[in-house]
Amino acid sequence: MSTIFSKIINREIPADIVYEDDLVTAFRDINPQASTHILIVPNKEIPTVNDVSAEDEQRLGRLFVVAKKIAEQEGIAENGYRLLINCGKHANQEVFHLHMHILGGRPLGPILSRP
Ligand code: 5GP
Repeated sequence: MSTIFSKIINREIPADIVYEDDLVTAFRDINPQASTHILIVPNKEIPTVNDVSAEDEQRLGRLFVVAKKIAEQEGIAENGYRLLINCGKHANQEVFHLHMHILGGRPLGPILSRP
């Protein structure tokens, strides 16, 4: 079963795609938590960071290269932004296709708050 993100990458369901290349695809989050909230996803399905292997180094490195490019495009590079990757239950990971969030456009506050 392919993930919802694979369906976006394969154009089976719509999304606001802002960047794509041979290794990664980036699209706007459907439920944005900041004025810029974009997900950068390896085209290969890797469920979580726990499933990463050495063979993935190039595609995962590409996430950072593309994050920098998108931050510039979105005009958030100078003021700063947050890159976030959730892994598993305690991090509330919802979609089991590894992805990097890029969040910006407002002060984001401390990274963690106690419930
Ligand atoms: P996670 O909690 O797994 O790190 O984040 C999953 C993110 O995917 C959430 O921010 C959620 O809003 C976003 N998301 C879930 N389903 C879809 C979808 O179908 N399209 C888009 N564009 N984003 C989605």
